[in-house]
Amino acid sequence: MLLGHFAVGLGAKRAEPALSLGTLVFAALFADVLAFILVAAGIEHFRIATDVQRNRLMGENIVYSHSLLMDILWGALLAGAYFLWRRHARGAWILFAAVVSHWVLDVVSHRPDMRIAPGIPRTFGLGLWNSIPATLVVEGGMWLLAIVLYVRATRANKRTGVYAFWVGIVVLTLAWIGNISAPPSSGAGAAALPSLIFFGCAIGWAYWMDRVRSNSSAYSAPAGVSSCLKKT
Ligand SMILES: [Zn+2]
Repeated sequence: MLLGHFAVGLGAKRAEPALSLGTLVFAALFADVLAFILVAAGIEHFRIATDVQRNRLMGENIVYSHSLLMDILWGALLAGAYFLWRRHARGAWILFAAVVSHWVLDVVSHRPDMRIAPGIPRTFGLGLWNSIPATLVVEGGMWLLAIVLYVRATRANKRTGVYAFWVGIVVLTLAWIGNISAPPSSGAGAAALPSLIFFGCAIGWAYWMDRVRSNSSAYSAPAGVSSCLKKT
């Protein structure tokens, strides 16, 4: 998935406003960021399936970034680091869930290339991205719901918080439409650096949104995190 992961970040901001949208989006995208770093390093590999029309990107060896056991481990490490930094247990649990949600959503959208753990060969994947109509309904529906939740949970501090937010939403939506409609023509090796730049920009945009949009007035911060809301 693509927008499904961003939807997790936007929706989780509604669930726990003390967390930065940037940190939440980073957690939800962690597996993909790690995968493209490992692809660039020659450790993980994707191939392009030539016998299908779409959803052609297949993980060949993506167990370090995209297996359930490893995502639980990465989620625990990220959540543990956040807890040591902020002493905020609920925020740490939500970050953990955001990292692990990536595996669940990719099992829904990928062809079977998702594993439970390194060393276990069985692969999983329901192939949602094989069908554009089904993707528009399921992932598009998640995206719309998450946007509504986020817009209701936050308000713009100034005009930038409106324009920059909606420009970001449009750019992400167009990138997603390009992803689900146009089959990739080259392997993920060539896409690793552009993908990392794209994810880096998207995560930076999410941190920026936390500076130009505030939590809605109805929200009151839990004890211990109210002093650092703007920084996490
Ligand atoms: Zn992924």
